Amino acid sequence: MSLAPGPDLIAIPGPSPVPARVLNAAHRASPDIYADDLAQVNLQVMAHLKRLAGTRANLAPYIGNGHAGWEAASANMFAPGDLALVLTSGHFGRSWAEMTEGLGVTVERLDFGALAPDPARLAARLAQDPQGRIRAVMVCQTDTASATLADIRAIRTAMGDHPALLVVDAIASLGCAPMRMDDWGVDVLIAASQKGLMCPPGTVFVWFSDRAAARGRTSLTSPWWDWHLRAGSDALWRWWGGTPPVQQIFALSEALTMILDEEGLEATWARHDRLARATWAAVDAWSVGGSIRLSVADPAARACSVTAVTLPGADALRAWVTRECGVTLGVGLGAPDPSGALRIAHMGHTNAGVLLGTLGAIEAGLTALGIPHGTGALEAAAASIARSAGTAGSGRH
Ligand SMILES: *Cc1c(COP(=O)(O)O)cnc(C)c1O
Repeated sequence: MSLAPGPDLIAIPGPSPVPARVLNAAHRASPDIYADDLAQVNLQVMAHLKRLAGTRANLAPYIGNGHAGWEAASANMFAPGDLALVLTSGHFGRSWAEMTEGLGVTVERLDFGALAPDPARLAARLAQDPQGRIRAVMVCQTDTASATLADIRAIRTAMGDHPALLVVDAIASLGCAPMRMDDWGVDVLIAASQKGLMCPPGTVFVWFSDRAAARGRTSLTSPWWDWHLRAGSDALWRWWGGTPPVQQIFALSEALTMILDEEGLEATWARHDRLARATWAAVDAWSVGGSIRLSVADPAARACSVTAVTLPGADALRAWVTRECGVTLGVGLGAPDPSGALRIAHMGHTNAGVLLGTLGAIEAGLTALGIPHGTGALEAAAASIARSAGTAGSGRH
């Protein structure tokens, strides 16, 4: 007998759970794409996306996934042969570097292994570039594989008056961790619909500063990628380079209303922070007397949307919790031994009940499979949640 039938709990770091309200908002026939109504909804979505990123700058939307967002940004920032410096903290930073290289850009990597970037190392590297050959510094705010959180403000400070653009992949962090694009001096920001934005996959957004816009077109800037043609257009089809993703626009509208106007952005960030802390409390308890470990030792460098865990027997555990409890956990992507690692997502549409259920299923799996672990994890997580109750926003909607 399995205890899995019932609601599925999906705790993978993207695509993240889509609220029923968002699915319902998308569940409609396509309207007249030349009528004003849809254009107005689109403009409101674009305004909301700028609020979400903390910017008054420019925004170009694309139909595509996160990888498309990477290429969109690069096609506007670089000419072939330009030098880009990518700070890598795991699988996603490394993939981004490879993809950028594939466009003919010269890529130099500052590799931090599975640790968050060290701003001092960046400052030291930029100090060796007085001619300003490095055209952009690129970093994932959260590398979803290592579950690190980069300190974007400190990275900007470390850049001093070096002319490189600061380019941030916030695909796994926007709507989860604080982002203040303008205050922090981020030039280009990339995020997609299917993680903190609580929508189905399929759209991706590139916010860009006036300084980035002033770079002008290069031989990589095809009309499809050209962000100038999209940002601020008065024709709906131009924003999207063709037929707009109608149903996705309605989904985004609903999701952004939930985040910005109902829960509130600061409360959404606080909820992610509290759920992350409860997760860490549980893993710390499991770690006593065994070899279960949080992959990121420094709490300040941990992502608030996903937690990476070193856990002997992780593959068997993931299979067990899916089969017996209906809980799906993230694979140990990019870990030194992926079969002995897993990731617990607490990203987007999730709450304390879902998280405690997920942690409870892991506890049951550790016991059933005889994986050595410390006791008291659920008590620790519950105590952590009890301490933060009432401070993480106005509740559920
Ligand atoms: C998910 C993710 C990507 C890739 O997005 P896709 O939609 O899978 O192309 C890139 N960067 C980060 C940080 C991610 O979390």
